[in-house]
Amino acid sequence: MSRLRPVVAIDGPTASGKSTVARAVAIRLGFRHIDTGAMYRSVALAAARRGVDLRDAAALTALAASLAIEFHPAPGGARGGERIVVDGEDVAEAVRAPEVSTAASIVSAVPGVRAALVARQQALGAAGGIVMEGRDIGTVVFPNAEVKVFLEAGLEARTRRRHDELTARGVEVDLDEVRRQEAERDARDVTRAHSPLRPADDAVILDTTLLTSEQVVAAIIQLVRERTDVV
Ligand code: C5P
Repeated sequence: MSRLRPVVAIDGPTASGKSTVARAVAIRLGFRHIDTGAMYRSVALAAARRGVDLRDAAALTALAASLAIEFHPAPGGARGGERIVVDGEDVAEAVRAPEVSTAASIVSAVPGVRAALVARQQALGAAGGIVMEGRDIGTVVFPNAEVKVFLEAGLEARTRRRHDELTARGVEVDLDEVRRQEAERDARDVTRAHSPLRPADDAVILDTTLLTSEQVVAAIIQLVRERTDVV
């Protein structure tokens, strides 16, 4: 594959700060930002709305292949990032609901769902100039990405971040319940047979537990500078 501009792959477990950091890096570089977790969440949301059983791999695969998933610039310009639009509906808020998180982690273990979404992700990033975040971007989607970062953070820090995110959106949840759900999703991602969560051999691992998101963004921009000629 030849591309004029680089691909920046950002992977890591739940609430490791990927989305905030990936969006900020994309804005700094003038690149697109694609949140692949939102794509798995969209399949889970559509399954719930259509009554598709989460154990029915064939139906989930057909659903993933049939949805029209697009990313549109948010109103207000680049600073707002990109909104996920599925079959014409902006589902950016709906896919963040806690029950969708759990369902997304279940549908993402279905090989056919992954195949359908990975093909779309590769098409979205084929020309480069993109910051893509997820679990398998550096290992499976863009194994030849110019820059690969794996973000880590302790479970307590990640629980606190997810809890803050949910509270800010008006969702009342117990801290212990958030911790349990995050740990369960991570365990599912790490142990699944197909594309488990792991750093690529050539990824730079950044532990963000004690870093601000600005510090993480600065570290990634520095890497982009070292590995490419875009900044
Ligand atoms: O990143 P986020 O938490 O929004 O992702 C939702 C779920 O989608 C994760 O729990 C994970 O199971 C799955 N996922 C994945 N591969 C990706 C992105 C997300 O399996 N590239």
